Amino acid sequence: MLLHLSTWQEIDDYLKRSKTVVIPIGSNEQHGPTGLLGTDWLCPEIIAHEAQRSADILVAPTFNIGMAQHHLGFAGTIALRPSTFMACIGDWCRSLGLAGFEKIYFLNGHGGNVATIDAAFSELYAEATYAQRNRGFACKQKNWWELKGVFGLAQRQFPTGHGSHATPSEIAVTQWGYPDSIKSANYAPQIAPTGPIREALDFRARYPDGRMGSDPGQATPEKGAELVAAAVAGLIDDVAAFSAEVAPA
Ligand SMILES: [Zn+2]
Repeated sequence: MLLHLSTWQEIDDYLKRSKTVVIPIGSNEQHGPTGLLGTDWLCPEIIAHEAQRSADILVAPTFNIGMAQHHLGFAGTIALRPSTFMACIGDWCRSLGLAGFEKIYFLNGHGGNVATIDAAFSELYAEATYAQRNRGFACKQKNWWELKGVFGLAQRQFPTGHGSHATPSEIAVTQWGYPDSIKSANYAPQIAPTGPIREALDFRARYPDGRMGSDPGQATPEKGAELVAAAVAGLIDDVAAFSAEVAPA
């Protein structure tokens, strides 16, 4: 069930049977010479949208801009600084909490978001603590590549050249989701360098074509289909477990 294609009455009805909502969250940022700018929000969106076709899961609109200041040296990147990002996550959660949602599950597609999402959760929990509420909503984030079965599959598909940015696994997922937008390039070197992440000018100098440690030329839509299937199964299980968590009395 997609929130943006539902009416408020349908959401009211959904709340009678579940208090859980899934929010795909990612980033709009450069992904090397062949990766789509939307890769990090498209992957969790593709997986969540696919999951809600076979399970009674409500999926909110995708939070598609994240903490990506280090990619701003490349055209098309749009970033929120951590403080803005935290404020936005907070208001998304407060809005959903006000409607009656008690379990807010973020399916994340961008490693650079993780620390800030956790900090935003800590702010929300601090609000509940200071208001002496012990039954505030619960928040969870999960990286899609950490869903059960996905990481091992990606390791088997891409034993070398997986890397950490513009990876063949994330690009394969978008190739499956958007086969009309598959790009090609000659990679030099075939496997990109690795190193630290600092500010945008430093990033562009270290990683001239935008990749980190990856050879995206290994991506295929068929491998993407396998990854999506594994991630969908993992997501359905993980959301069910989160929904079943009971707060202590
Ligand atoms: Zn990415």
